[in-house]
Amino acid sequence: MVRRKPKEIEEIKRRFLEHYPKAKTELNYKNLYELLVAVMLSAQCTDKRVNIITPKFFERFPTIEALAKADIEEVKELIKTCSFFNNKAKNLVEMAKMVMEKYGGKIPEDEKELIKLPGVGQKTAHVVMIEYLGKNLMAVDTHVFRVAHRLGLSDAKTPEKTEEDLVKAFKSDLPALHQAMVLFGRYICTAKNPKCEKCFLYDLCKSENKKPISSKESKPHPAS
Ligand code: SF4
Repeated sequence: MVRRKPKEIEEIKRRFLEHYPKAKTELNYKNLYELLVAVMLSAQCTDKRVNIITPKFFERFPTIEALAKADIEEVKELIKTCSFFNNKAKNLVEMAKMVMEKYGGKIPEDEKELIKLPGVGQKTAHVVMIEYLGKNLMAVDTHVFRVAHRLGLSDAKTPEKTEEDLVKAFKSDLPALHQAMVLFGRYICTAKNPKCEKCFLYDLCKSENKKPISSKESKPHPAS
């Protein structure tokens, strides 16, 4: 449930869009295949780590076809510094095989089909569709979940329900807002020790994690 007044939601939205006008994923990719692999690897893993892994991975498996024929042990070796690499290796190869066998080698661009691929849940599908196709969708990862709750945009217990609350609250500009909330959560409203002194939403935050800051440090937002 959203606990914010419509005016406050509009202001939060406005500031996110103002502060992150060109927010985009920090994952490196050149095409849909590379994006899907990178997003699958990024579950429970940092984008930084994924960006270290993927250059060698794509050198060895440059296409979905090459990945479909991969030896699973070789895939594991290439991604072993990533969390849950055993499962991820299995899913990556199975995903590639299914794309080759069921979709003629073309990764589907439709949510219903995407989530049929092994290892691709709703969040992964949404991140891919937001980033690659600019679809008006929200995806809730650990950063978005935390930020949504601290800002009173949701009190839902699950990422799926939180996503519903955010869609209901923001309605439009969801791709930009998704990326903005990821970056905001990663660099400002961090899980531990949030950088409240740098926060452009300080005056709107009612979170118990909000740290008191002196008026000297505080920089009220021009619109507030
Ligand atoms: S004031 Fe602190 S806790 Fe609140 S949204 Fe900003 S960074 Fe997060």
